Amino acid sequence: MSFLTDFKTFLRADEPLAPHTWFGLGGSAEYLAEPETVDQLAALVRRCKEDQMPVRMLGGGSNILVRDEGVPGVVIKLSGDEFSKIVVSESQVTAGGGAKLGHVISTAIREGLAGLETLVGIPGTMGGALHGNAGSHGGDVGQRTAKATVMTRSGELVERTREEMVFAYRQSSLDELVIVEAQFDLESDDPVALTKRMQKHWIVKKASQPMSHQSAGCVFKNPRGMSAAMLIEQAGLKGTQIGQAMVSDRHANFIIADEGASSDDVRRLIELVQSRVQERLGVELETEIEIW
Ligand SMILES: Cc1cc2nc3c(=O)[nH]c(=O)nc-3n(C[C@H](O)[C@H](O)[C@H](O)COP(=O)(O)OP(=O)(O)OC[C@H]3O[C@@H](n4cnc5c(N)ncnc54)[C@H](O)[C@@H]3O)c2cc1C
Repeated sequence: MSFLTDFKTFLRADEPLAPHTWFGLGGSAEYLAEPETVDQLAALVRRCKEDQMPVRMLGGGSNILVRDEGVPGVVIKLSGDEFSKIVVSESQVTAGGGAKLGHVISTAIREGLAGLETLVGIPGTMGGALHGNAGSHGGDVGQRTAKATVMTRSGELVERTREEMVFAYRQSSLDELVIVEAQFDLESDDPVALTKRMQKHWIVKKASQPMSHQSAGCVFKNPRGMSAAMLIEQAGLKGTQIGQAMVSDRHANFIIADEGASSDDVRRLIELVQSRVQERLGVELETEIEIW
């Protein structure tokens, strides 16, 4: 039986990925799968391994640039309800890999649980946040992660304890294929005070980032002890444009895509920024966003 027929209830062929990403650019996935249950996910992952089909996870698409040529193999998105659950028990919040990070944060705040509010305004899913240890205002998601359930490329579910996980700047040791669920250890606090703190973080974030444009947040990682935005600005690159992609003049580590931009415009601009910063300041910039 064909791949498509076997998983027809939750798999589509030749699915455009632009609407699934914040950049809104790029080509199609050979297959896009949106399993509803862990069993469906496991069956699909095992079959991909048997057929040697490339497979990738897509969260909210806020840290990905899809190439214009599209993506071979299967892209899996955890959109089903089973993957979006958020459960609170005492001072712990457990969330599915497909749950929106914003929903996890607002649930914790409503329940008077502190520890995630510094992450307000980071788009995407819990799975995507944990994969890249998303962070903001001095905090990151890894700091509060007590355990995680992951699925390997063989379709096996494995639990990772706090001791087994390592988190660093935009890096986590959770490199199995799927982050299925995670639990966060939080602290009791007054919901009103928490809401105020969250609003403060939100205002600071909104003021510094061009959030209303098509972008994928910070394009480059901050090199140790330095700010990528500052380096790009010092290299005189604010406002530099290729096609319809431009280095934001509000935050130099953002590339914004205007109407008519192609993924290739963004990719060429990334390369230009890297080579100019290297040439003028002798620093190598590594991308924070993933190019598929
Ligand atoms: C306006 C804007 C502001 C931003 N601000 C910040 C910020 O302040 N701090 C910050 O750290 N980032 C920021 N980002 C970047 C981005 O939001 C984060 O990296 C976010 O955590 C990515 O989550 P996502 O669900 O969108 O992941 P995606 O972009 O969909 O995927 C990113 C990576 O995670 C993997 N992944 C996704 N889901 C899973 C899963 N369930 N299991 C395993 N792997 C998975 C993907 O395969 C991919 O490798 C910003 C982006 C935008 C557009």
